[in-house]
Amino acid sequence: MPHNFGDFRATGTVYLVGAGPGDPELLTLKALRLVRAADAIVYDQLVSPQILAFARTGAQTIFVGKKPGAFCCPQRDIEGTLLRLAREGKTVVRLKGGDPFVFGRGGEEAEALAAAGIAFEIVPGVTSALGAASYTGIPLTHREHSSAVVFLTGHEDPKKTDSSFRWEDYGRLDATLCIYMGMKNLESITRRLQAGGLASDTPAAVIQSATTGAHRQFVGTVGDIALASERAGFGAPAIVIVGNVVRLASKLAWFEANRAHALPS
Ligand code: SAH
Repeated sequence: MPHNFGDFRATGTVYLVGAGPGDPELLTLKALRLVRAADAIVYDQLVSPQILAFARTGAQTIFVGKKPGAFCCPQRDIEGTLLRLAREGKTVVRLKGGDPFVFGRGGEEAEALAAAGIAFEIVPGVTSALGAASYTGIPLTHREHSSAVVFLTGHEDPKKTDSSFRWEDYGRLDATLCIYMGMKNLESITRRLQAGGLASDTPAAVIQSATTGAHRQFVGTVGDIALASERAGFGAPAIVIVGNVVRLASKLAWFEANRAHALPS
């Protein structure tokens, strides 16, 4: 029991919240309620400013994202920030792009909170592969084309050895592949998928800044997508989708079509 009741303040709760892929309307009602109520919001660079604008006046907003090419915040510091804010009795929202448990290091942050005995909740978000697929008109499964979906990262923890990730095996899966953080290594990834047996004419798409005003999509084949998308100026943040379902984008690409027909504002 604290010896001085005047100093006592209950520890706050940390909410690990998915902000979705970009379009603020893809935020869940629960995420919106928590963002509005938070005393402190600790956010990444992929969180849209329109979502941060929902924070209440006076809420503390703390950026912990990594700027491209620069190193901002070691994971241990981010975890330390969450613990400190909670111990100050604050309601903390840790806002992450997409879903906190899909390549978002939400697991590590939840582990740190659990180890420190801080109360936490996880609020799922629309992960960017789902946002990219829907807005590009690529059904990730389809009774005629694909019965399985895999989420993969093209950029592993540098501490892991190369052999721990066998792209050749994924080339044999006959599944839709959704590759996060794949742009830098796309040439080698697509080469290794083909070495595993994936036909070079399998359709592939790169979707950059999916669901946002800057959304761009590029469709090619596994054989040519790396070079062709680079030549077309595509880069991170982008999702690469590989599989026969990508063919449907030529019929179902509603988002680009609607934008093309929209009157200039
Ligand atoms: N937790 C996030 C993923 C974070 S890793 C999620 O669930 O989506 C960061 C990677 O996510 C980026 O390199 C990119 O591959 C992908 N990404 C995030 N937002 C994106 C967007 N709007 N469009 C395309 N890819 C996106």
